[in-house]
Amino acid sequence: MQSTMRAAVMTAPRQELTISRLEIPRPGPGELLVQVEASGVCHTDLHVRDAASFPPGAPQPLTLGHEGVGVVVDRGSGVTRVPIGARVGAPWLHDTCDHCRPCLTGFESFCAAQLANGYSVNGAFAEYVIVKERFAPSIPEGLDPIIAAPLMCAGVTAHGAVLKAELAPGKTCVVIGCGGLGQYAVQLAKLTGATVIAVDNSAAKLEHARALGADAVVLAGPDAGEKIRALGGADACLNFAPTARIWPMVVQAINPRGWIISVAMVSEPVPLVLEWLTYNGVRITGTSVGTRQELLDLLALAQRHRLSVRTESISLEGINEGLDRLAAGGVDGRLVIDFRSTRH
Ligand SMILES: [Zn+2]
Ligand SMILES: [Zn+2]
Repeated sequence: MQSTMRAAVMTAPRQELTISRLEIPRPGPGELLVQVEASGVCHTDLHVRDAASFPPGAPQPLTLGHEGVGVVVDRGSGVTRVPIGARVGAPWLHDTCDHCRPCLTGFESFCAAQLANGYSVNGAFAEYVIVKERFAPSIPEGLDPIIAAPLMCAGVTAHGAVLKAELAPGKTCVVIGCGGLGQYAVQLAKLTGATVIAVDNSAAKLEHARALGADAVVLAGPDAGEKIRALGGADACLNFAPTARIWPMVVQAINPRGWIISVAMVSEPVPLVLEWLTYNGVRITGTSVGTRQELLDLLALAQRHRLSVRTESISLEGINEGLDRLAAGGVDGRLVIDFRSTRH
């Protein structure tokens, strides 16, 4: 095996990522060395690259990427379950503390001590990545790495949001924002038997949402809340749009005892009237990626049902251009670095 690898690394905050040649890391106890086949590009990678400082505790330079899929080529001591040659994922969660209340009650993605691939440790924008065996999901037979990679963060995040919404036949789910995550959410919400209304400010994205199974579509705008009310209101609003402008629509659309699920990173405050919350019994929660079990469930689902999300393959060298397009809103779906086509 060669001793060096190509990787896209952050050498300083707010700088383009650099394509570097690095030593291939060696797996420690309980760790796997994975030769990456495909690596999805996430908005979080953009936030990390363009933040004012490195993430807390991160190595410097830092290899980004937390939607990796590849093949195990080496194993550290104590690895028992995953054989060499197995295809596994390198998802957001790299490790958790395993003893806090969120960890012990099925909410490990809220562990305050978690380590994340491509954030607190080196990630999958590289030809090789180290993952913990305990946190490496097996990729089911027949699932293409390009299809599987975005499930590691985008897919499991949408799945986690849909699970929290307590959907069922007869209920109505509003999916706000029909990019990659919203496209997953429309399909996953449909599978629960709920009626799905898709909202976006792009007519083209709404047309795509309809093709993915949305029962109704509403163009974002001042009358969007009213239109959702006319359709019976929302028993759940899942927000994937990174803007506080959606809030008046959500307040108007949500039914009593409905769930408002916050997924997108909206940093501006929204006006929340507690009296309204009191008499409506509306429930508001956030969601962040998902647990290992939720990821395994999603992978099993993706093997049986084709979850169709637009993916566009790019090369490792195309990463900065890809991140810039993501920043400009110029990506419909998910970008995936395809390492298989550019190995050298
Ligand atoms: Zn992500
Ligand atoms: Zn924990």
